[in-house]
Amino acid sequence: MNTTRLRVYVRGAVQGVGFRPTVHRVATGLGLHGFVTNSTSGVEIEVEGRTDQVDRFVPTLLDQKPPRAIIQGLEFRRLDPVGHKGFEVRETDVRGPATTLILPDIATCADCLRELFDPSDRRCGYPFINCTNCGPRFTIIESLPYDRERTTMARFVMCPDCRSEYENPRDRRFHAQPNACPVCGPQLKLWDPSGGVFATREDALTAATDALRAGRIVAVKGIGGFHLMCDARNDAAVRALRGRKHREEKPFALMFPDLASVRGVCALSALEEQLLSTPEAPIVLLLRRGSATICSSIAPGNPYLGVVLPYAPLHHLLMSALGFPVVATSGNLTDEPIVTDEHDALDRLGEVADLFLVHDRPIARYADDSIARIVGGRPMLLRRARGYAPLPLARTASREAILAVGAHLKSTFAFSVEGQLVLSHDLGDLETPQALAGFHDVVKRLPGLYGFKPTTIAHDLHPDYASTQFAETLPGRHVAVQHHAAHVFACMADNELEGEVLGVSWDGTGLGTDGTIWGGEFLRVREGAFRRVAHLRTFPLAGGDSAAREPRRSGLGLLHEMEGDAAFTRPDLAVRLGFEPAELSVLRGMFRSGTGVARTSSAGRLFDGVAGLIGLRSRAAFEGQAAMELEFAAMEAEDEASYPFTFAGEVVDWAPMIQAIETDRTASLPVGRIARRFHNTLAEMIVAVARREGLPRVCLTGGCFQNVVLAERGIHRLTATGFAPYWHQRVPPNDGGIALGQLVAAGAAPQG
Ligand code: ZN
Ligand code: ZN
Ligand code: FE
Repeated sequence: MNTTRLRVYVRGAVQGVGFRPTVHRVATGLGLHGFVTNSTSGVEIEVEGRTDQVDRFVPTLLDQKPPRAIIQGLEFRRLDPVGHKGFEVRETDVRGPATTLILPDIATCADCLRELFDPSDRRCGYPFINCTNCGPRFTIIESLPYDRERTTMARFVMCPDCRSEYENPRDRRFHAQPNACPVCGPQLKLWDPSGGVFATREDALTAATDALRAGRIVAVKGIGGFHLMCDARNDAAVRALRGRKHREEKPFALMFPDLASVRGVCALSALEEQLLSTPEAPIVLLLRRGSATICSSIAPGNPYLGVVLPYAPLHHLLMSALGFPVVATSGNLTDEPIVTDEHDALDRLGEVADLFLVHDRPIARYADDSIARIVGGRPMLLRRARGYAPLPLARTASREAILAVGAHLKSTFAFSVEGQLVLSHDLGDLETPQALAGFHDVVKRLPGLYGFKPTTIAHDLHPDYASTQFAETLPGRHVAVQHHAAHVFACMADNELEGEVLGVSWDGTGLGTDGTIWGGEFLRVREGAFRRVAHLRTFPLAGGDSAAREPRRSGLGLLHEMEGDAAFTRPDLAVRLGFEPAELSVLRGMFRSGTGVARTSSAGRLFDGVAGLIGLRSRAAFEGQAAMELEFAAMEAEDEASYPFTFAGEVVDWAPMIQAIETDRTASLPVGRIARRFHNTLAEMIVAVARREGLPRVCLTGGCFQNVVLAERGIHRLTATGFAPYWHQRVPPNDGGIALGQLVAAGAAPQG
């Protein structure tokens, strides 16, 4: 596409400082059309024009912004051109009072950072320095309007110096609600696992850095909860953390001291640099260079590293003292919410951490680090949490008060406030009583801050999801939204699409309207309604939910679908898929009787099955691991070929592809090339359905489209064949986006 439109949301002190004239100058200088307008929290900008010029807009604006303009947040999404003419500076379009807006937490600003390391400043070395333009917001707010007495800072009485800053309209801490200093504000302590005080204040920081250097594991209370930290170069420390956290193979995120140190380890594009350095400070998935300083146990078998820069003053102090990257993984046990309270930390992380670096500023609600990656030249959020939530994501014309409770994994919920759709932060997988309790707590309290009382409840079709069961307990009109349709609605809302689209909704699992397990769906979707027009050929899967952890079961299911019981007579079966003969005879019995065997059209399980059949992985430590390894294998190979498949009626049949994969495998074609051809084939399947359906716009959604190789091949092939592909930007393509899709669907669903 030659022209494009970019919607930019800039939050911060950008009103009345000459920001809008600068936007005008930059936009017109690049020959772009559009507008700039004030919003409740900053300005909203649209620029439209030649794609290469639009691409230069944000970097140029950041470069040329007026000195007094301070940016607290910057998000953008690509949209279809609408034919703007000229560039307009609109006077006002402020919707609603700013007091109803809960701002996200903002990474430490440049001014505060300078003071933090200035020996003459009264806050030098103070880990809770902040100002009007940075610091905690979402994680300290207890009720609205946003004032100090309604935050967790209420317990700290400002000293005369802080008070005078707070009351002086010309001071940059005027009405900075978390304002504090070493005299009056929160303080650090270092505890041993029994809660004994090891050190306080600066000594606590020094002792914590000493411990990290010595290979110990330190639990660090941050903005939205605890991190578990250890030296990322120390393999023994990383392995100890894995063992104690019961997290065998899932990658750990790393915090680096600064951008320069990231560059030494990872390949960084300009867009990735910008994303890492934004005030939202997400974890960004970056391709690593072959580097010896990061031990392999950080992210086994994974060419990416999840990297975050320091975003709280405490992190800056720690990281500048250390000068090397540390593991910064969420302070929780697997499948439990992040710990936010220091006493709770001793209970729950006492077996994990050697020391606890804590402070006495309470965290009102937990917020995990957000995760982003670049897909198709745009940022894509894989987890929307700290730094982003709970900013509104889209507008709605519906006046109904709808609460959408989301799915089961990567749980979020959504609701509408003053015509805006708000998606909650990530609340984790609802797999443990602790996770469920955390979800209940937030879903009961967060919408209430806005005075929101739902009259309509939207939920998944699946009766066994903890979110659905929670929805059943709430009064009001109930709307059940099919899982894969919700994915498409979320993608449409993210791209502000109206009218009809073809949704390619591929993930691990979701309940279909026919009672079977869906996951490889092609849906025509419009205004709250959808029709399933095609799906991947179904295959039998033995063992229900355990199949997600055992790619070999998917591999067996594919073979059984093609060959029937004869699949069990293959001489290579046990060795190839890693089954014991006894296991195979149990499975054979299950397939014969049909007991414990369910059919699925899941694309995620198709990935698993192929990974199993080509010998990449027979068992997975976490769902999606085999699919990720197939993606990584494909990244290493160049191959334009694709495999045959058939498409008739509703069924896209992968059987010819599996046969061709068997041939390639027998011919010893490298695994990477088979993986690449497999991805290419999936893209051709998408094109084939798009051609038959003839809808110009195609939405790529569901957890499978977190896969860069699949998403980018799909984008490329759809574009090359005359279709307009859409993918996720600000809303996660995985189940973290489901709640927003449910909200959109329920808002459009007829009442009665
Ligand atoms: Zn600041
Ligand atoms: Zn003070
Ligand atoms: Fe899903």
